[in-house]
This record gives sequence, structure tokens and C-alpha cells, in this order.
Amino acid sequence: MEKKRIVTGDRPTGRLHIGHYFGSLKNRVKMQESGEYDPYILVADVQALTDNFNNPEKVRKNVREVVMDYLSVGIDPEKTTIYIQSMIPEVAELTVFYSNLVTIARLERNPTVKTEIAQKRDLFGESVTYGFLGYPVSQAADITALEGKIVPVGEDQLPLIEQCREIVRKFNSIYGEVLVEPEAVLSKEKRIKGLDGNEKMGKSLGNAIYLSDSEEEVNKKVMSAVTDPNRIKKDDLGNPDVCMVAYYHKLFSSEEECKTVCEECRAGKRGCVACKKQLAKNINATLEPMRQKRKYYEERPELVDEILIKGTEKARQTAKETMKKVKKAMKLDYFE
Ligand code: SF4
Repeated sequence: MEKKRIVTGDRPTGRLHIGHYFGSLKNRVKMQESGEYDPYILVADVQALTDNFNNPEKVRKNVREVVMDYLSVGIDPEKTTIYIQSMIPEVAELTVFYSNLVTIARLERNPTVKTEIAQKRDLFGESVTYGFLGYPVSQAADITALEGKIVPVGEDQLPLIEQCREIVRKFNSIYGEVLVEPEAVLSKEKRIKGLDGNEKMGKSLGNAIYLSDSEEEVNKKVMSAVTDPNRIKKDDLGNPDVCMVAYYHKLFSSEEECKTVCEECRAGKRGCVACKKQLAKNINATLEPMRQKRKYYEERPELVDEILIKGTEKARQTAKETMKKVKKAMKLDYFE
């Protein structure tokens, strides 16, 4: 049976945190190990520049950081192709071709883009750049250059895939059936809240636990997690439903431990400090094998480079074949 190609990726703007792990990485490893898919992961450095154009050093530095995070959680370069977006020039070329097939009004209406522009008012002010507004077009080029069939996404990303599908249909209706229309597969994993209870976990919010955090960093961060504000003394009756420590216990502790945490908290028989220490221990137990794996690659940067070079060559080959078909369909295949 032919394996279905999956295309996913991340912007290299910082190390990856437990929100990324539960939101997408765990699922990517599962899909990789199922043997049903042919997974590609792009390190989206060009896309990262759309809102970090003034900080190229940050993007460059984080390319390897993100790849080491992938490797640390079990992404296996023998089964998953990892590549750098900017090293596939066909993607940039396709982006130009696709830009004729999408209107500015349609991009402005894209709910994901609208939300992100609102969040980046500090950077863009009242006037967003052409590059940022158009990043769904370049994302469509990423997916279609690799003939991606499946794109696992969170709910908030669905409009981007719909935009890609529209571009594919438009292209195929004008130039002939060349492009593969991808399908979004909604990831069942939910977005993980930050230590402060914020709906989003992120670097700028200072509420994240990174996969590469040391044991001491995890211990310190867990101690700062928001608990039930009405609980002052150990024997105050608590409400674990409003406590971030209880929330993370559900992710990192056994079912039995979670049950005990909730029962003892409600009965006023549990101290918050002890509860946090137990959580930190469980988080560290999950992260320790990742840290070990990461350390292995940190000490061997040439291996990370090799993985990227090999993955990028493989991805480029597919992109070149797609481009050949695209240029032929668009009557741009001069002298061939
Ligand atoms: Fe949260 Fe645990 Fe304290 Fe209850 S005992 S409020 S679950 S930290």
C-alpha cells in the first residue's frame, strides 16, 4: 500500500515546549511509527522571517534547536524527512505563481491570519507586511511542492489548509490537474495552557516548560504555577479544577495519582508544595530521556547537519519534479 505523505512544520523562533509536545510532536511520532505515512517536517525559516525579518540571527540559531527537539522526542530521520524551507527554492517560485490565484481580500478574511495580525500589532502597527499577509500562499507552496496529502493541524490552523485547497483547485481548473489537494486531519490533542493559566503557552508569555529545560528549571517553574487562589492553608478545602498543578498532573501523572491529587485537595488533606514537588518529579521523569537524546546531538552538531542536508536533498528532489509539472502546465517550460 502506498504511504500517504504528511507535511508538517514549525517556525524556528524558539525551543519547543510541552505545549508543542502534546499539541503535535507526540502525534507526529505516533504517525511516523504507524508505518502508514511518509512524513516530512519542514523547518519553516522563511515563514519565521515574516514576523522576525528584523532578527535573522534568532531564526538561524533556532533551526538547529528545533531539529534537536524533534530528535529528542523520537522523530527518526530514517523514517521522517526533516528539511529547511529556505533551501527549497521551488517553494519560493511556486509562491509567486500562486499569488496570482488568491486575492488580497481573501487573505485578509482568513481567520487565522486575522487573529495573528491582531496579536502582532506591536510589530506591524496598523499596516501589515505583504509577506506576512501572504504567508498562507507560501504555506500552500510548502505543502504542494512536496505533494503532501495529509496535513495534521489544530483547529485554529484549519483556515490555512482551506486556503491551500482553494489555491490547488484554482490552479488545477486553469492549468490542468497537476497539484495534489491536501486534506487537513484535525489533531485530537488540545492546546496546552501555560503555567499561569493562560490559554496559550509561549516564550513571550514566560509561562512555558521547554523540552530541554533542566531538572532545576522544571522544579522552579512548577513552583511558580498558579494554584487555587482561595487556598491559603493546607487544610483549606481546595478546587483542583482551577489549579494548573492539577491540570498538569493529568498530563504527566498516572490516573491513580491524579485521582488522589483531586480527592486530597478537595478534602484539604494535601499541601500545595508537596503536590508541586510530585508533579515536578513526574515531568522530569518524562523529560529525562529527551534530555539525554538531545545531549547526544548537542555534542555531535555534525550529525544534525547531516540529517538536515540529507533531508533537504530528498525534499528538493520532489519539489523539482513538482516544479517541472507546474511549469509545463503553465507553458513556462522553455527550451525543454
Ligand atoms: Fe493545586 Fe495540588 Fe494545591 Fe490542590 S493541593 S490547589 S491540586 S497544588
